[in-house]
Amino acid sequence: MESCIFCKIAGREIPTHFIHEDELAVSFKDIAPQAPVHVLVIPRLHVASLNELHDQNLLGHLLLVAQKTAEKIGLLQYRLVINTGADAGQAVFHLHLHLLGGRKLAWPPG
Ligand code: 5GP
Ligand code: ZN
Repeated sequence: MESCIFCKIAGREIPTHFIHEDELAVSFKDIAPQAPVHVLVIPRLHVASLNELHDQNLLGHLLLVAQKTAEKIGLLQYRLVINTGADAGQAVFHLHLHLLGGRKLAWPPG
């Protein structure tokens, strides 16, 4: 999708260091971190949100990419978040998992 910032990142139109990269997904640091470690995991395919994802293999793959990304950066304790819809905090409508850690995270999130 031409106007999508995450499609541009995945397609290398916007140069970005990928922590993990494979044929289906990439992970990279969030530009405005909400925790000492804040990484995004996205599919290369444009999927607007979790509500539009029907491919269980891709969903499983994204979770494993999050796991591998955490392992690569030595993060043993972390939280994965998928904001779905504007009221849940979704601002970029290309599916992404937030990988958060590096400090004790409050629960419930509020
Ligand atoms: P959302 O609020 O949609 O769940 O999360 C979008 C995330 O993308 C935010 O945490 C925001 O900081 C991050 N973000 C937005 N634009 C960019 C960008 O151009 N580069 C990177 N690395 N992160 C971005
Ligand atoms: Zn996109």
